Amino acid sequence: MKSLVIAKIAGFTSLLMTYSPVSNAMTEQGADHLCFGMGIFLGCIITLLLGFYLNRHYRIKYHKMLRRLKSAKSNARIAEQAMNTLAKEQEDSQDLLEERVQERTLELNIALQELESANQELERKNVLDELTGLHNRRFYDQKILAEYRRSRRNLTALSLVLIDIDHFKLVNDNHGHLAGDQCLIWLAQHIKKSLKRSEDKAFRYGGEEFCLILPNTDADGALLLAEQLRLLLSEQVFKFQNVEISLTISCGICTYQQQADVGPEQIFSGADKALYQAKHNGRNQTQQYTSIE
Ligand code: GH3
Ligand code: MG
Ligand code: MG
Repeated sequence: MKSLVIAKIAGFTSLLMTYSPVSNAMTEQGADHLCFGMGIFLGCIITLLLGFYLNRHYRIKYHKMLRRLKSAKSNARIAEQAMNTLAKEQEDSQDLLEERVQERTLELNIALQELESANQELERKNVLDELTGLHNRRFYDQKILAEYRRSRRNLTALSLVLIDIDHFKLVNDNHGHLAGDQCLIWLAQHIKKSLKRSEDKAFRYGGEEFCLILPNTDADGALLLAEQLRLLLSEQVFKFQNVEISLTISCGICTYQQQADVGPEQIFSGADKALYQAKHNGRNQTQQYTSIE
């Protein structure tokens, strides 16, 4: 825009020189050709000078701009590099963070699994007898109460069978405590096998005393099961280090059939009385407690 104005001024000046009053006067005086030529010459010189000036001016300006452009370009390149580096670092730190999170999540999952299996183990130990793998006394206390309540609610029979090994002390005395332990394990396996329904549960109640909770089972059903087990054991021999050990058991049964004022303790004490009767009558037999009502 500026250059256009300057060019216009130059052109106008040369025209002015050509058609100035001086040149007019000179024309009138007869030297019109010379003056005309001088005007053109001067115009050309001014135009040329202007051209040089403009050329130089714009070249300087151009170079300045070029320098600015170069510096802007290099600044842009630096900024771009910095941004790229930043983006890369961000990406790297993001990756690192994700990796760490994954590692921690994995560690946490493993810890949770270990905790869960430890809990399961604890729960298992809480309800199982370590030697025989049957349910323990603690679980018996919970189970008998639960089954008693169920029996009352559903008006179904509930039987409890107490099992005690006859003269078990002799097994320890004659064959050693280790043989006695193995004997208990062997017996527990037979007891487990004797159960017919999934809701029937076997417990190691004490040292060589076991019991069965038989929900929905009347006195006849309980007697049948106890007698089958007793007879089976009386026909079997337990082998320990090539020594055959014979065992018999005595059983006491008590069946709850919604009798008034009877709770889990009375059911147990009834079965215990029946067991005492079986021992008293010569062992290797099953007795039922009848006068619970
Ligand atoms: P009964 O016919 O009157 O029941 O006689 P018993 O000898 O079986 O009864 P007693 O109560 O006199 O003895 C029980 C024995 O059981 C004594 C004890 O050493 C043994 N016993 C208890 N718990 C264990 C155990 O975990 N392992 C071993 N090996 N023996 C045990
Ligand atoms: Mg005993
Ligand atoms: Mg005994």
